[in-house]
Amino acid sequence: MTIHAVRSLRKSIRKGIVEVSVIDRNNYHVFHGLVAEVLTGKLSPGDIVSPARKLFKGLDFINGEIESVDFNAQEVTTTRLLDGKRFKIRFDHLIIGMGSTDDLGKYPGVSENTFRLKAYPDVVALRNHIISLFEYASIEADPAEREELLTFVIAGGNYAGIEVAVELDEFAADLTRHYFPQIEYEEVRIIVLHSGAFILPELGERFPGLLKYAVKKIGATNIKIRYNERIQSATPVSARTNQGQEISTRTIISCVGNAQSPLFNQWEVERHESGRLLTDDYFRLVGKDNLWAGGDCAAAPHPKGGYCPPLAIYAMKAGVKISKNILRTIRKKPLAKYQFTGLGDACTLANRRAVGHLYGVPFSGWPAWVAWRVFMFKYLPIWEKKIRTTIDWCIWPFVGRDIASYQSDKQLQVKELYFEPGQEVIVEGEDGNTMFVIYEGEAAVFQQDREIGRLTKGDYFGELAVLGNGRRSATVKSLSRLRLLEIRKHLVNKIKKALE
Ligand SMILES: Cc1cc2nc3c(=O)[nH]c(=O)nc-3n(C[C@H](O)[C@H](O)[C@H](O)COP(=O)(O)OP(=O)(O)OC[C@H]3O[C@@H](n4cnc5c(N)ncnc54)[C@H](O)[C@@H]3O)c2cc1C
Repeated sequence: MTIHAVRSLRKSIRKGIVEVSVIDRNNYHVFHGLVAEVLTGKLSPGDIVSPARKLFKGLDFINGEIESVDFNAQEVTTTRLLDGKRFKIRFDHLIIGMGSTDDLGKYPGVSENTFRLKAYPDVVALRNHIISLFEYASIEADPAEREELLTFVIAGGNYAGIEVAVELDEFAADLTRHYFPQIEYEEVRIIVLHSGAFILPELGERFPGLLKYAVKKIGATNIKIRYNERIQSATPVSARTNQGQEISTRTIISCVGNAQSPLFNQWEVERHESGRLLTDDYFRLVGKDNLWAGGDCAAAPHPKGGYCPPLAIYAMKAGVKISKNILRTIRKKPLAKYQFTGLGDACTLANRRAVGHLYGVPFSGWPAWVAWRVFMFKYLPIWEKKIRTTIDWCIWPFVGRDIASYQSDKQLQVKELYFEPGQEVIVEGEDGNTMFVIYEGEAAVFQQDREIGRLTKGDYFGELAVLGNGRRSATVKSLSRLRLLEIRKHLVNKIKKALE
């Protein structure tokens, strides 16, 4: 949204009519439409991020976290990540384009045990995790453990969920054929849990023929779609569903649930029931003359009724309209109503196929896939990324995917985990190189199936294996919902040294 708002103001900035400051916690923009191709090594991770300094060249860009907005004083306060130092920026007009965040309260365990796709570091972490799991599975002999490593659960049969599932399936076929002779393609299970009666609801309701095509193509892969089933809780080793099923897995990818910035709770402004900021037909916050909002954080009226969906094209158009209306306000001209009713949607099905529609005309197969790529190219925000992405698209079929896992052991040093009641956290006799600290819930300790103690908030366990012979001396089972910090051996040793 912001990029397009700023682009429409460029001429007025040059003429000195307006001055623009852009604030973002990241010094880059993420192009989410190609996340699935980054996860599966067709594209380099850098292809989908555009540096803010290139996007907003010559403008005042502030890399900081928006901490608060004082609407009366017309001032935004930001903090820098380094040390929390505060900065204040004055405004006459404020454009709010803060997008949405992942809804971490959607079900228990989502923040601790799922992978998400909104924030760029999460995308990179998932990419590395997927590749590493193939490495671990290739040397794992225990069939149950192998199945757990090679099972990928995707929550949500929407565009994002289906795109990730189909790309992952194509990736699995490629990896097992060319690089992992120890793993059969059929061993890789991709399970999409979809709460509705049909996937791709945005497309399926209007174009049943496209949905039928998509379901048929997906049916010919390793992907299993489970309808009317959704995740109820996520643990480090399983996904539990509302149908009472437990799926053993090390990978749950959550594509459901958007929440809004917690900052909005501090503001006295009208909100939609979804939490989005309610705007009028001109993108002004209801009842405010100099506060504007567009994109995923705004509930802006759609010209055909309802509200604009949280899609990139609507965010872009909102940005342009907001800028034009700000200029009209400055020139004391009447504001222009929002007219855009949508261009089209497309969803890749991998293997050079897609489904989509353009101005209501449905299309599928190879032509739809070409059109999808053309759109992705068109909307990548800077030329550098268009060129890099096109080069990667052209070369990967010949040189192969990038399948290095850039995991640093530092990333894995402390992890938050969530367990459902009755689950085993550690098992007596197994190898272990981590210890745990409980920060919520209760657990029981067993030796040779006899309970020998209870643990609760603030207690720790697992350190004996880490500091001793590497084997667990007891089994620990959760008695209630259990939240833990898992600390890796390297850090445990450091803590021990510090306390000596
Ligand atoms: C995996 C995935 C795939 C998608 N695929 C598609 C697709 O194929 N087609 C499509 O149309 N849409 C797609 N979308 C949706 C699309 O990405 C969004 O609709 C679009 O990015 C919304 O733009 P925006 O400007 O509102 O928000 P964003 O692009 O999210 O930008 C919000 C910005 O605000 C910044 N920000 C937020 N809070 C603060 C704060 N407190 N301080 C400082 N900065 C802050 C963020 O860092 C971010 O840069 C996808 C989304 C995801 C997650």
